[in-house]
Amino acid sequence: MAKSAQKLAFRPPCAGLWDTPMVQVNGDVTTCCLDEHLENKVGNVNQNPLAEIWKSKTMDDWRTAQVAGRFEDSGPYCTRCNWRSAGTLSPERVAAWQSSRGMGR
Ligand code: SF4
Repeated sequence: MAKSAQKLAFRPPCAGLWDTPMVQVNGDVTTCCLDEHLENKVGNVNQNPLAEIWKSKTMDDWRTAQVAGRFEDSGPYCTRCNWRSAGTLSPERVAAWQSSRGMGR
């Protein structure tokens, strides 16, 4: 595969799962502003604090899947979104996150 094609085919982990919780007016929480139909809904701030929702096992599982390149195991919308418009989690942040969980690269 040509280098430019490889670059286009490569999909990095999305920083949205770390950085951009979105809270709707009714309190529903999703992963990012791209998920306007709440396919990635992970909770509601009227029932649980945002920090608790954002640190939930579901979010952790989705982050783990993205770092492993298993995007189909991330949020339901993550497989179909326009991920190139979202931010990328840098290799340094991936390493730091893995290290914080005792995971090697
Ligand atoms: S991969 Fe897409 S849907 Fe998932 S958090 Fe990132 S921008 Fe949002």
